[in-house]
Amino acid sequence: MSASFAKTIAIVGRPNVGKSRLFNALVKKRVAIVHDKPGVTRDPNIAELVAGLLLVDTGGWGLGQIKGQEKEAVLAAAVEEQVELAVEAAEKILFVVDGRTGVSALDHQVARNLRAHKDKVTLIINKIDEAETAFDEGEFLRLGFASWQVISAEHDRGIEGLRNTLLKLAPKVEKKPEEKKVPAVAILGRPNVGKSSLTNALLKKNKVIVSDISGTTRDPVSVDLEFVGRKETYRFKLVDTAGLRHRTKVGSSVEVFSQMRTREVLQKADVAVLVIDALEGVTSQDKLLAGEIQKTGKPLVVVVNKWDLAAARFVGEETIEGYQTLQEFEMACRESVESALFFTTGAPMVFLSAKESLNLEALLKEVKKIEAQQDKIFPTPEVNKLLSKLFWKNVPRNVSGKMFKVYYATQTGTRPYYFRLFCNQAVGVGDDFKRYLSKGFAEHFNCGGVPFFFHFVSKPRREKTEVKPDLYSNKGKRAKVGPKASERATYSPKKIK
Ligand code: GDP
Repeated sequence: MSASFAKTIAIVGRPNVGKSRLFNALVKKRVAIVHDKPGVTRDPNIAELVAGLLLVDTGGWGLGQIKGQEKEAVLAAAVEEQVELAVEAAEKILFVVDGRTGVSALDHQVARNLRAHKDKVTLIINKIDEAETAFDEGEFLRLGFASWQVISAEHDRGIEGLRNTLLKLAPKVEKKPEEKKVPAVAILGRPNVGKSSLTNALLKKNKVIVSDISGTTRDPVSVDLEFVGRKETYRFKLVDTAGLRHRTKVGSSVEVFSQMRTREVLQKADVAVLVIDALEGVTSQDKLLAGEIQKTGKPLVVVVNKWDLAAARFVGEETIEGYQTLQEFEMACRESVESALFFTTGAPMVFLSAKESLNLEALLKEVKKIEAQQDKIFPTPEVNKLLSKLFWKNVPRNVSGKMFKVYYATQTGTRPYYFRLFCNQAVGVGDDFKRYLSKGFAEHFNCGGVPFFFHFVSKPRREKTEVKPDLYSNKGKRAKVGPKASERATYSPKKIK
């Protein structure tokens, strides 16, 4: 069991009913209690009541994009957008009305839009400043919400009680059972890059336990690896070593790159290691593989193998043309791999020699690190801050005549990371922009190589359930975030020879 994702409470209602007053009143209590707790972030419209419980004021949602219409129409449209997105985003909705002015047409509209979700709605009758303040209770109750509360956000009436009720929604802090699951690693790459050599090098001096015998062949399908490093012992399961051996034995005609096979292997893996040849650089086939890995949502570590051959070139007089030192060549390799695999989130790279068993531990270190990173749950306020920062740096193109705006985002998944972004329009958000966000997230949260998936939710689509990218379908389509055929192999062998 992993930790829980944050839950959201959304405050909705027409303008001037006191939404932001209520937000501040509820948040102030929280601030008073956890005043000096570090890391408690507060935005104008998002705040954490307690760990994992977010309060969101939807007041600004939907406003400011509709031009040339009557004020009323603008408000009605904005309020509708607020309510629809709030229903999507939140576990609990506080529907605020003004107890003194009575029920308005807009209140009725909000109520209508909320009716189908009334189980998660609490009607908040605000501005009842004193116990004696008279108001028409029946009029409000006829809106049809069984859960309701009378408060005064400004005079702090009923806030404490409301807050305590809300706190009950906080996700329970689950104690992670100390499961000792051994992570599965798939070593992938095109023929002759050294996959078998790497597998054997890893297994060589180490204890090999055959963990899974396939019924039809004597080859192990996966093997347990126990690698005693300098400071620690690494334990992994290497998947599909049978496939590796088989392909090597039979020869190149069988070693045709197979999408199906790769996907099957990736499904079993927690981390994908893509092996490339140091002197050949990233070829189009390597890119296809990296694209497959990205699509299946598995984290990627790139191995630049046969580094001994590169190193040997810098020993004598004659070096690799265009490079003075091995370090210089390494930098160039790094840059070209990064640009060739531009669609990943900056996978860690390990330069090694399978043949000479050099730098193997560095690979296992990266694999271990990236494996653990997949379970991270990021604080929602930080996610939202980061998003607005990324948006300011690179304002996305105005896709359908409207300024693109994200109101609120929450994480909804790990392994791989999923985020839902509630925005004014979801259609037309390009892969380029998603890649830009992925990279920004990976950099900020220090988890390059782990893919991020963003699901944009906007009002017109009226999506009630999350549509996750179909990770393992094989409809013969090219990966959306995949390599382009036009991308050339990077550092050219010509330079090297
Ligand atoms: P696979 O098809 O990816 O499994 O590749 P193999 O492991 O069978 O290796 C293909 C060829 O590359 C073999 O001749 C290996 O000896 C050679 N090779 C693999 N790794 C290295 C390395 O690190 N350095 C050198 N110099 N040769 C390597």
